[in-house]
Amino acid sequence: QRLITDLKAAIRSIPDYPKPGVVFRDITTLLGDARAFRRAVDELVHPFAGGRVDKVAGIEARGFILGGAIAHQLSSGFVPIRKKGKLPHETVRIAYSLEYGVDEMEIHTDAIGQGERVILVDDLIATGGTAVAATQLLRQMGANIVAACFIIDLPDLGGAKKLRDLGVEVRSLVSFE
Ligand code: IMP
Repeated sequence: QRLITDLKAAIRSIPDYPKPGVVFRDITTLLGDARAFRRAVDELVHPFAGGRVDKVAGIEARGFILGGAIAHQLSSGFVPIRKKGKLPHETVRIAYSLEYGVDEMEIHTDAIGQGERVILVDDLIATGGTAVAATQLLRQMGANIVAACFIIDLPDLGGAKKLRDLGVEVRSLVSFE
Protein backbone atom coordinates (compact mmCIF):
# COMPACT_ATOMS: atom_id res chain seq x y z
CA GLN A 1 0.00 0.00 0.00
CA ARG A 2 2.91 2.29 0.86
CA LEU A 3 4.45 1.44 -2.48
CA ILE A 4 1.28 2.36 -4.35
CA THR A 5 1.00 5.66 -2.45
CA ASP A 6 4.63 6.44 -3.33
CA LEU A 7 4.11 5.59 -7.00
CA LYS A 8 0.96 7.69 -7.12
CA ALA A 9 2.86 10.62 -5.63
CA ALA A 10 5.51 10.25 -8.34
CA ILE A 11 2.91 10.78 -11.10
CA ARG A 12 2.24 14.40 -12.07
CA SER A 13 -1.33 15.51 -12.78
CA ILE A 14 -1.78 18.33 -15.25
CA PRO A 15 -5.20 19.99 -15.29
CA ASP A 16 -6.76 21.10 -18.58
CA TYR A 17 -4.29 19.19 -20.76
CA PRO A 18 -4.60 18.50 -23.66
CA LYS A 19 -7.90 20.37 -23.40
CA PRO A 20 -10.06 22.09 -20.79
CA GLY A 21 -11.66 19.75 -18.26
CA VAL A 22 -9.20 16.88 -18.80
CA VAL A 23 -6.60 15.97 -16.17
CA PHE A 24 -3.54 14.48 -17.86
CA ARG A 25 -1.63 11.89 -15.84
CA ASP A 26 2.04 12.42 -16.64
CA ILE A 27 4.44 9.55 -15.89
CA THR A 28 7.60 11.43 -16.95
CA THR A 29 8.11 12.41 -13.30
CA LEU A 30 7.87 8.75 -12.24
CA LEU A 31 10.31 7.72 -15.00
CA GLY A 32 12.74 10.42 -13.90
CA ASP A 33 12.69 9.15 -10.32
CA ALA A 34 15.19 6.26 -10.24
CA ARG A 35 13.59 4.52 -7.28
CA ALA A 36 10.00 4.92 -8.50
CA PHE A 37 10.86 3.73 -12.01
CA ARG A 38 12.57 0.56 -10.76
CA ARG A 39 9.84 -0.17 -8.23
CA ALA A 40 7.08 0.32 -10.79
CA VAL A 41 8.74 -2.08 -13.23
CA ASP A 42 9.53 -4.65 -10.52
CA GLU A 43 5.97 -4.52 -9.22
CA LEU A 44 4.42 -4.86 -12.68
CA VAL A 45 6.48 -7.92 -13.60
CA HIS A 46 6.32 -9.56 -10.19
CA PRO A 47 3.52 -12.07 -11.01
CA PHE A 48 5.23 -13.12 -14.24
CA ALA A 49 8.80 -13.56 -13.03
CA GLY A 50 9.74 -17.21 -13.34
CA GLY A 51 7.06 -17.94 -15.96
CA ARG A 52 7.81 -18.00 -19.67
CA VAL A 53 7.15 -14.77 -21.54
CA ASP A 54 8.43 -14.79 -25.13
CA LYS A 55 7.69 -11.19 -26.07
CA VAL A 56 6.73 -7.91 -24.49
CA ALA A 57 4.68 -5.78 -26.89
CA GLY A 58 4.84 -2.04 -26.12
CA ILE A 59 2.41 0.55 -27.47
CA GLU A 60 3.97 3.72 -28.90
CA ALA A 61 5.36 5.77 -27.27
CA ARG A 62 5.32 5.45 -23.47
CA GLY A 63 4.70 1.71 -23.76
CA PHE A 64 8.16 1.48 -25.35
CA ILE A 65 9.90 2.88 -22.28
CA LEU A 66 8.15 0.58 -19.83
CA GLY A 67 8.07 -2.35 -22.23
CA GLY A 68 11.82 -2.23 -22.81
CA ALA A 69 12.51 -2.29 -19.08
CA ILE A 70 9.95 -5.07 -18.51
CA ALA A 71 11.34 -7.18 -21.36
CA HIS A 72 14.83 -6.87 -19.93
CA GLN A 73 13.60 -7.83 -16.49
CA LEU A 74 11.75 -10.91 -17.81
CA SER A 75 14.50 -11.82 -20.32
CA SER A 76 11.92 -11.55 -23.11
CA GLY A 77 12.09 -10.04 -26.57
CA PHE A 78 10.53 -6.62 -27.20
CA VAL A 79 8.10 -5.85 -30.03
CA PRO A 80 6.87 -2.33 -30.92
CA ILE A 81 3.26 -1.59 -31.83
CA ARG A 82 3.44 1.69 -33.72
CA LYS A 83 1.29 4.36 -35.30
CA LYS A 84 0.86 3.65 -39.01
CA GLY A 85 3.69 4.32 -41.40
CA LYS A 86 6.59 4.04 -38.97
CA LEU A 87 7.59 0.39 -39.25
CA PRO A 88 9.91 -0.41 -42.17
CA HIS A 89 9.04 -4.05 -42.91
CA GLU A 90 5.74 -5.75 -43.85
CA THR A 91 3.03 -5.05 -41.27
CA VAL A 92 -0.46 -5.97 -40.09
CA ARG A 93 -2.59 -2.93 -39.38
CA ILE A 94 -5.72 -2.24 -37.35
CA ALA A 95 -7.96 0.84 -37.14
CA TYR A 96 -9.23 2.00 -33.76
CA SER A 97 -11.35 4.87 -32.47
CA LEU A 98 -10.01 7.76 -30.51
CA GLU A 99 -12.09 10.31 -28.68
CA TYR A 100 -12.28 12.25 -31.94
CA GLY A 101 -11.89 10.25 -35.13
CA VAL A 102 -9.87 7.13 -35.84
CA ASP A 103 -6.25 6.12 -36.03
CA GLU A 104 -4.35 3.03 -37.09
CA MET A 105 -1.62 1.04 -35.40
CA GLU A 106 0.56 -1.71 -36.80
CA ILE A 107 3.04 -4.45 -36.01
CA HIS A 108 5.59 -6.30 -38.13
CA THR A 109 4.15 -9.51 -39.59
CA ASP A 110 7.16 -11.50 -38.37
CA ALA A 111 7.28 -9.96 -34.88
CA ILE A 112 5.42 -12.75 -33.10
CA GLY A 113 5.24 -16.47 -33.77
CA GLN A 114 2.09 -18.58 -33.49
CA GLY A 115 1.36 -19.40 -29.84
CA GLU A 116 4.05 -17.16 -28.38
CA ARG A 117 3.38 -15.89 -24.89
CA VAL A 118 3.10 -12.10 -24.94
CA ILE A 119 2.64 -9.32 -22.38
CA LEU A 120 1.09 -6.09 -23.68
CA VAL A 121 2.35 -2.85 -22.08
CA ASP A 122 1.26 0.79 -22.04
CA ASP A 123 1.49 3.58 -19.47
CA LEU A 124 -2.24 4.05 -18.98
CA ILE A 125 -5.60 2.49 -19.83
CA ALA A 126 -8.61 4.77 -20.14
CA THR A 127 -11.49 3.76 -22.47
CA GLY A 128 -9.46 0.75 -23.60
CA GLY A 129 -9.77 1.62 -27.29
CA THR A 130 -6.01 1.48 -27.75
CA ALA A 131 -5.38 -1.69 -25.74
CA VAL A 132 -8.36 -3.56 -27.22
CA ALA A 133 -7.08 -2.81 -30.75
CA ALA A 134 -3.58 -3.94 -29.75
CA THR A 135 -5.08 -7.14 -28.29
CA GLN A 136 -6.88 -7.85 -31.56
CA LEU A 137 -3.69 -7.20 -33.53
CA LEU A 138 -1.65 -9.52 -31.30
CA ARG A 139 -4.26 -12.28 -31.42
CA GLN A 140 -4.41 -11.96 -35.20
CA MET A 141 -0.67 -12.73 -35.14
CA GLY A 142 -1.36 -15.88 -33.11
CA ALA A 143 -0.15 -14.43 -29.80
CA ASN A 144 -1.20 -15.96 -26.51
CA ILE A 145 -1.65 -12.84 -24.37
CA VAL A 146 -0.45 -13.60 -20.85
CA ALA A 147 -1.46 -10.19 -19.49
CA ALA A 148 -1.81 -6.49 -20.23
CA CYS A 149 0.17 -4.23 -17.87
CA PHE A 150 -0.32 -0.53 -17.17
CA ILE A 151 1.04 1.82 -14.54
CA ILE A 152 -2.29 3.68 -14.41
CA ASP A 153 -5.92 2.61 -14.74
CA LEU A 154 -8.80 5.07 -15.03
CA PRO A 155 -11.49 2.58 -13.94
CA ASP A 156 -14.40 4.96 -14.53
CA LEU A 157 -13.67 4.83 -18.26
CA GLY A 158 -14.12 1.06 -18.35
CA GLY A 159 -11.10 -0.01 -20.42
CA ALA A 160 -9.77 -2.61 -18.00
CA LYS A 161 -13.19 -4.26 -17.84
CA LYS A 162 -13.37 -4.37 -21.65
CA LEU A 163 -10.02 -6.14 -21.77
CA ARG A 164 -11.02 -8.61 -19.04
CA ASP A 165 -14.21 -9.34 -20.96
CA LEU A 166 -11.94 -10.34 -23.85
CA GLY A 167 -10.22 -12.82 -21.55
CA VAL A 168 -7.10 -10.74 -20.96
CA GLU A 169 -5.60 -10.59 -17.48
CA VAL A 170 -5.13 -6.91 -16.61
CA ARG A 171 -2.51 -5.65 -14.20
CA SER A 172 -2.24 -2.02 -13.15
CA LEU A 173 -0.59 -0.32 -10.17
CA VAL A 174 -2.37 2.96 -9.56
CA SER A 175 -5.92 4.13 -10.25
CA PHE A 176 -7.33 7.61 -10.51
CA GLU A 177 -11.10 8.04 -10.23
P1 IMP B 1 -7.67 4.67 -24.27
O1 IMP B 1 -7.46 4.15 -25.65
O2 IMP B 1 -8.88 5.54 -24.12
O3 IMP B 1 -7.62 3.57 -23.23
O4 IMP B 1 -6.46 5.66 -23.95
C1 IMP B 1 -5.21 5.16 -23.59
C2 IMP B 1 -4.14 5.71 -24.49
O5 IMP B 1 -4.14 7.12 -24.45
C3 IMP B 1 -2.77 5.26 -24.01
O6 IMP B 1 -1.92 5.02 -25.10
C4 IMP B 1 -2.29 6.41 -23.15
O7 IMP B 1 -0.90 6.60 -23.26
C5 IMP B 1 -3.05 7.62 -23.71
N1 IMP B 1 -3.62 8.44 -22.61
C6 IMP B 1 -4.90 8.75 -22.39
N2 IMP B 1 -5.05 9.54 -21.31
C7 IMP B 1 -3.82 9.73 -20.83
C8 IMP B 1 -3.29 10.46 -19.68
O8 IMP B 1 -3.98 11.08 -18.86
N3 IMP B 1 -1.94 10.38 -19.50
C9 IMP B 1 -1.14 9.69 -20.35
N4 IMP B 1 -1.61 9.03 -21.40
C10 IMP B 1 -2.92 9.04 -21.66
